Amino acid sequence: MSRVYLDYNASAPLLEPVKAAMIEAFDVFGNASSVHSQGREVHSLLATAREKLAKMVGASGADVIFTSGGTEANNLALSPSLFSRDLQADARLYVSAIEHPSVLNGMRFEKDQITVIPVTRDGVVDVEWLRAELKSYAEEPVEVNKNEPPKKKVNPILVSVMAANNETGIIQPIAEIAEIVHEAGGLLHSDCVQVLGKVPLLLPMTDADLITVSAHKIGGPQGVGALIVRDNSIVLRDPLIAGGGQELKRRGGTENMAGIVGFGVAAEVVNNTQSAEQARVRKLRDELEAGILNISPDAIVFGKDQERLGHVCCFAVPGFSAETQVIQFDLMNICLSSGSACSSGKVEHSHVLKAMAVKENLSHAALRISLGSQSGSSDVTQFLKAWESIYTRVKKRGCAA
Ligand code: PLP
Repeated sequence: MSRVYLDYNASAPLLEPVKAAMIEAFDVFGNASSVHSQGREVHSLLATAREKLAKMVGASGADVIFTSGGTEANNLALSPSLFSRDLQADARLYVSAIEHPSVLNGMRFEKDQITVIPVTRDGVVDVEWLRAELKSYAEEPVEVNKNEPPKKKVNPILVSVMAANNETGIIQPIAEIAEIVHEAGGLLHSDCVQVLGKVPLLLPMTDADLITVSAHKIGGPQGVGALIVRDNSIVLRDPLIAGGGQELKRRGGTENMAGIVGFGVAAEVVNNTQSAEQARVRKLRDELEAGILNISPDAIVFGKDQERLGHVCCFAVPGFSAETQVIQFDLMNICLSSGSACSSGKVEHSHVLKAMAVKENLSHAALRISLGSQSGSSDVTQFLKAWESIYTRVKKRGCAA
């Protein structure tokens, strides 16, 4: 029996052209900062990868800051030093309750500078709450300089809301949030790790000021990501990693060349195929979900009526144990995640499902399936066969699996 991999939100397999380009890049030695011809050769690989990623997200090359992954990019973005020195003491960070832990902890903001934005039971950020919260900023007077058109006052507010959630796949109303934040004179950061390759031209689409992306969710290598900064009026005054001035002084350290080359190729490949690929994978996901509901009519699919990423299904059957089922599936050669697994692999009450007011016992039953480039209809068939046998066995026993 072949292995069925249904955990693309955790990490996607390396795409073949990515692997080939990385192997080639390992032969190009030297430092991208060196002025000699060998250094320039490395620098040109770096510049090509930057342009490919920039093209995919609708940015320009100078907007891209390569990092060691999505976690570092999120950490880099969340700093009061985005604002001028005189405003930093009053800076406020708003993060949604369903963010990845690398955002939720607020990084370089003090605890008392952070406010959590609630989500509705549907798993969508409460836009009306945010609008009311930021209303007083929006009403502040505009700064008028008689030589320039009137400008909105800059307020030291950073709002961080992910474009889609990694556990449920529920898409967030980022463009609407951007409007509210900009009206209030603030900045918007959006963790786009799970939507890269799923939604075209992320930067214009989200209208965010800073976005985070990661290579290994789209078939690139692990340990590479980027923070993309909309325009050069946003200054990263205090880089997380200070060093030799790489990445236009925004992220020190000699670049991970092979990784960055791999990210560039992954961006190019996925950018050229994403719309057909998304339609193909969504069809598989819909078949799989219909099959689950057919076998287990008591299953609850989180966010079923919401706008969701087409490759994700997060579901639970009351009374079941996700932890046990993940092991049972694994014994049947099927890899998936429990909806609430934390990084240690232990099952905890998922902060995402908790924010959606899902009861703890149901949250402990949540499984997350995420499909991708190598998924096919035989995977759906094999999964449904396994699910039927697990479900029937647990129901027969009449107790939690
Ligand atoms: N943000 C989200 C929404 C994620 O799902 C992940 C990884 O699972 C990250 C950030 C972290 O990215 P990386 O693994 O590249 O550090």
